[in-house]
Amino acid sequence: AWHAAAGARTVLLPQPQSFCAGVERAIDIVEQALVRYPHPVYVRKQIVHNLHVVRDLADRGAVFVDELDEVPRGATVVFSAHGVAPDVHRQARERDLRVIDATCPLVTKVHSEVRRFARRDHQILLIGHAGHEEAIGTLGEAPERTRLVQTEADVAALPDIDGPVAYVTQTTLAMDEVATVVAALRERYPHITGPGSDDVCYATTNRQRAVLAVAGQSDLVYVVGSRNSSNSVRLVELVERAGTPARLVEDVTGVRLAELAGAATVGLTAGASASPTLVAEIVRNLGGLGPVEVVERRITTETITFNRPRELDRAGGDAA
Ligand code: SF4
Repeated sequence: AWHAAAGARTVLLPQPQSFCAGVERAIDIVEQALVRYPHPVYVRKQIVHNLHVVRDLADRGAVFVDELDEVPRGATVVFSAHGVAPDVHRQARERDLRVIDATCPLVTKVHSEVRRFARRDHQILLIGHAGHEEAIGTLGEAPERTRLVQTEADVAALPDIDGPVAYVTQTTLAMDEVATVVAALRERYPHITGPGSDDVCYATTNRQRAVLAVAGQSDLVYVVGSRNSSNSVRLVELVERAGTPARLVEDVTGVRLAELAGAATVGLTAGASASPTLVAEIVRNLGGLGPVEVVERRITTETITFNRPRELDRAGGDAA
């Protein structure tokens, strides 16, 4: 296999890729909480959907739990970047927990839209993936009037809605799929209202546009990310729809020599929750097979950053 995979190779690095502002903020929040508050610091769900990030923070003392009943009364708990339903905040108050909310501000924005539409008596259609933590949290804002739709077929199966109706979306969907479902919704409910600006976030959009800019010239595209990372899986699907084979890899151990045979040009990107160090490691490894020319293809530069939550802004925190 080594011989078949050996040879000179071009690696195309679409940019932007890897960590987004929401993920960097969420990781920073856990790191700060570990420094400022008494241990153990609990984190509800994976802080971001990446195995390496979670392992690294667990090594440094973060205790990951699935639900708040696993957290002792009065302890510190961080909520993940994907957001939580109001019920979870209520449960945290009942258990007297110190909450540090790492929900990405762009997810919070979708929650606010749902509340706004609910106040105005709309029926709400959430375009998203069943069972994904972000969708569960968003649905929880107005469960009695929100329905989840994933596909055109789901739209066809929806009941007639007489009164006002609105849609919102999960932040990490494929742009083309959202467009298809929104078009179906508009046909079904011509009076439907949408979010003020796109719910699919800037980071998701940029990573998709960037990878599409290299997919056509690549023999194979690797997307670094975990299986449960929605935006990473969407990148793989998007490249495949563009006609180029794509593989999701957790890290360098997922790269198979056999599939590199004949792949003279390899596209290499990473989802918003995957560290750039994992990408660098793959590039180094490809260098072991022969000379590698790395070519960056940048479609835009991201300058967005998000502030820390207020409770972490106070110098030293109140436990210092
Ligand atoms: Fe926020 Fe988008 Fe990153 Fe999700 S992918 S954390 S919504 S910036």
